[in-house]
Order: sequence, then C-alpha cells, then structure tokens
Amino acid sequence: MTAIEKYAVPRTVEEATELLAANDALMFAGATDVLPQTRSGKRAFKPALVNIRCIDALRGIEREGNSFRLGALTTVTEILESELLKEHVPVLVEAADSFASGQLRNTATLGGNLCNASPAGDMILPLLLLDAEVELASRSPQLKGALARRRLPLCDFFLGPGKTRLEPTEVLTHVHFDAPGESFVASFRKFGTRPAMDIAVVSIALGCTMEDGVVTKARVAFGAAAPTPLRGLRTEALLEGRTLDEETLAAAAATAREEIHPISDVRGSAWYRRELVQTLTGRLLRNVARTED
Ligand SMILES: Cc1cc2nc3c(=O)[nH]c(=O)nc-3n(C[C@H](O)[C@H](O)[C@H](O)COP(=O)(O)OP(=O)(O)OC[C@H]3O[C@@H](n4cnc5c(N)ncnc54)[C@H](O)[C@@H]3O)c2cc1C
Repeated sequence: MTAIEKYAVPRTVEEATELLAANDALMFAGATDVLPQTRSGKRAFKPALVNIRCIDALRGIEREGNSFRLGALTTVTEILESELLKEHVPVLVEAADSFASGQLRNTATLGGNLCNASPAGDMILPLLLLDAEVELASRSPQLKGALARRRLPLCDFFLGPGKTRLEPTEVLTHVHFDAPGESFVASFRKFGTRPAMDIAVVSIALGCTMEDGVVTKARVAFGAAAPTPLRGLRTEALLEGRTLDEETLAAAAATAREEIHPISDVRGSAWYRRELVQTLTGRLLRNVARTED
C-alpha cells in the first residue's frame, strides 16, 4: 500500500496544477468515487493527495448570452436547484434528478463525474446532447510554467472505462455549452432496478429540434451501452430530415439497438441492453413527436 506523504488543499487552479506537476498525486473533489475505489482496491493511493474542493474559481453556473459555463466543482444538487438550467437546459436537471441520493448529490461534482469516466455516468449524456466542451488547465513548460488551457469536445474526452484524455498534470476547470434553444425537445431516461441509488442498466438522452414536422437536428447518447458514454451518430443521421412517423421511429430504434456495443454483466446481458435501448429510443422519440403535435 502506498504511504501518503503529502496532503494539500490548494485555493487556486495555479496552485493545484503546480502540485500536480511537482508530485505523483491523486486529486479528488467530492471523493464519492475516489473513496470507494481506494477502499475496494480498484485504485491505489499516491504519495500526494490533492483536495481541490476549496478552489473557488471552479464553482458556479454562469451564463453569458446563449453560452453556459459550469465550474468543475458544481455539485449535482446545484444543477438540480438551478433556475437558469431548469429554464434553458431542463435535460441536465432531469439527469441530476436520477442521480443517487440527496447526500451524494450534495457532494458529487460535475468534474468528478466526467473525469471518473464511467460508461454509466449520469451527467455525461445530457452534456453530449449539448455538444459540450471541457476546459483543461495545466502548467506549461513552454509558457515557463504559466497556466495553459485547452478545450476538448466532450465526445472526444473518453477513451474507455475510467480513462480519459486528461493528463495526470491537468485539472478539468469548466464545462462549456450553448443553450440548445426552446425548440430542442430533449429527455433523459435511466433504466435500473430503482429510479436512483443504482447504476444504470442502460441510460439514454435524446433530443430533437423540429421545423414544420421535420427533424432538423437530432442528438442521441447512450450510457452503459459501450466502453464509453456513446453518441448515437447513426441514429442521429437517420432521424435528421425525416418526419417522426411510425416508420422513422421503428427504423431509429432498430439503428440505436445496432450501434451500441454493450457487455453482459451482473446488471444485464448484452441482449437485454439492446432490447432496452431499442424500446427507450422509441419511447423518447414518441415524446418528442407528442410535444410537436
Ligand atoms: C452510493 C453511490 C451512488 C452513486 N450514484 C451515482 C449515480 O446515480 N449516477 C452517477 O453518475 N454516479 C453515481 N455515483 C458515482 C459518483 O458519485 C459520481 O461519479 C460523482 O459525480 C463523482 O464526483 P466526485 O466529485 O465525488 O469525484 P471524485 O471521487 O472526487 O473524483 C473522481 C475522479 O475524477 C477526478 N477528478 C475529480 N475532479 C476533477 C477535476 N476537476 N479535474 C480533473 N480530475 C478530477 C479524480 O481524480 C478521480 O479520478 C455514485 C457513487 C456512490 C458511492
């Protein structure tokens, strides 16, 4: 077992990135993933522990015009209670409402949910619908140790279960997205043995913009259906330019079933997950069609 030699609580992103650059460190925010993982032996401690919870610059839900910026330390409760998000991005609030218990929601952060990179992470799917980008900060040797920031589309961030493009010296500082507009009708469904306090057997977020009865923009994302949270690009392409009649609904649901790559595990077989994705895709599309009537 690794001995913890240093425990640090930085107050700024500059301080945090300096600590990460200088130490072999394990960073945490709410620690709702880190603690169970270290206790179960799934993850090892490192010589330095960096608690980023006190960095005020990583807090807050901000809007400038149509653009939103959410700090990495935004908790699930803050998302759930945000009037701004309820009005402009209800699908994100809907996902927060399926998330664990009140106690967990008060502690679990958005940045932690993204960086833990679970294929079943609840907050990831609505952000994929929104074409969100993550902002990452680190100390740059090229900039003589000054802070370097880069932005990545969220859909390119995930590499596999628990794996992302985040470098060990980087902090995820913010999530950026544009409000999708009132005509974008979207919803989120998590299928598990219980509505919350359970890892999804599968989850899905789906949204469409309709003009004169025709889908002009479609976004679909699946959770627990592949090694990473997955955009349903084939399903989206099938939907765009079509009316939501029974034929389109059936074709989109069948395409969704085919484009996921589920595994069989204790929660459900790959076959069962495909059945669920097909059924839920059809149901969510029916909701969109109903809203349009
Ligand atoms: C009982 C229980 C129920 C749960 N239910 C759900 C659920 O319903 N839905 C769901 O999606 N998840 C659930 N989770 C998982 C967990 O709560 C979430 O993934 C949560 O959002 C993690 O946030 P955190 O701040 O606690 O992350 P932490 O545990 O602090 O960190 C998780 C990972 O992210 C990294 N990290 C954290 N913040 C940053 C940052 N800003 N920059 C770079 N790296 C960072 C850490 O180094 C670590 O690798 C549950 C967990 C438990 C224990």
